[in-house]
Amino acid sequence: MYYRGRFAPSPTGALHGGSLVAALGSWLRARQAGGRWLVRMDDIDPPRVVPGSAASILDTLHVHGLVPDEAVLYQSARETAYRAAFEHLRAQGDVFACWCSRNDLSVHGGVHRDGQCVAPAKHGRRPAWRLRVPQVTVRFDDGLQGMQEQDLQAEVGDFVLLRADGCWSYHLACVVDDAFQGITEVVRGCDLLDSTPRQIYLQQRLGLPTPRYLHLPLVLRAEGGGKLSKSTRDLPLQADTPMHNLRLALQALGLPDAHGCDCGAILTQAITGFDVLVMRHRQAMAWPADTSRPGRM
Ligand code: GLU
Repeated sequence: MYYRGRFAPSPTGALHGGSLVAALGSWLRARQAGGRWLVRMDDIDPPRVVPGSAASILDTLHVHGLVPDEAVLYQSARETAYRAAFEHLRAQGDVFACWCSRNDLSVHGGVHRDGQCVAPAKHGRRPAWRLRVPQVTVRFDDGLQGMQEQDLQAEVGDFVLLRADGCWSYHLACVVDDAFQGITEVVRGCDLLDSTPRQIYLQQRLGLPTPRYLHLPLVLRAEGGGKLSKSTRDLPLQADTPMHNLRLALQALGLPDAHGCDCGAILTQAITGFDVLVMRHRQAMAWPADTSRPGRM
């Protein structure tokens, strides 16, 4: 099958080291397979979206030589597709309205009986809509993390598809768009490993294909002596030193230091050198300690 991969950033701030590694990992897999690499902008959560950051993420990818092969898909333009998927699930009897308060959810995990919410309806307020999750164990063989399984009802429960504030859930939007873009392999960070069974179950309920999944270890900052710090958030990325950033990201992915006169040359070397299995059984990838700002590159 023709390979189609993707990188799906959320425009909640500037691209940081961890997301550059995820972008690069997915780009390298697509290039090695002779396939296409797409970008989807996960901009459907207005309270979290930072104005200007979608454009800045795309610019940053561009200066690192990571240019999508097709037009960027913006989730904010996909309301009709999410609504159609939701109505399909509703027609199958898979969804229910939930009026639980924060307290109901934190104390009892929600007042749901027999696949219904029994909290009193709150007049004048919209409910959240949840997917009814039966007793089901979802299994998948991750390209890097190996066999995974999750008892969806016990470990997750009936999860939200449409929030009370009118926002579509990441899971619904993600599976609808992965299918729409014809994605054959999803490469992303391990922080989403335990979201994957929810997405596979949704694909099954929607009659959508399940792509392969490959979850990269988390990227943590290396301290002196190679120890990893717990800090994951502020891996610095200087927008004006793309070659330096690329080399740090490639080192995090287990590649030897690359040289070249521009990003394109570094990326070309990386396509042949990249072996994703180098990271098998690793808990984390190290963002190299030496992030001292080099001369402008
Ligand atoms: N937008 C999500 C994030 O940045 C990633 C979605 C995905 O790769 O499925 O965490």
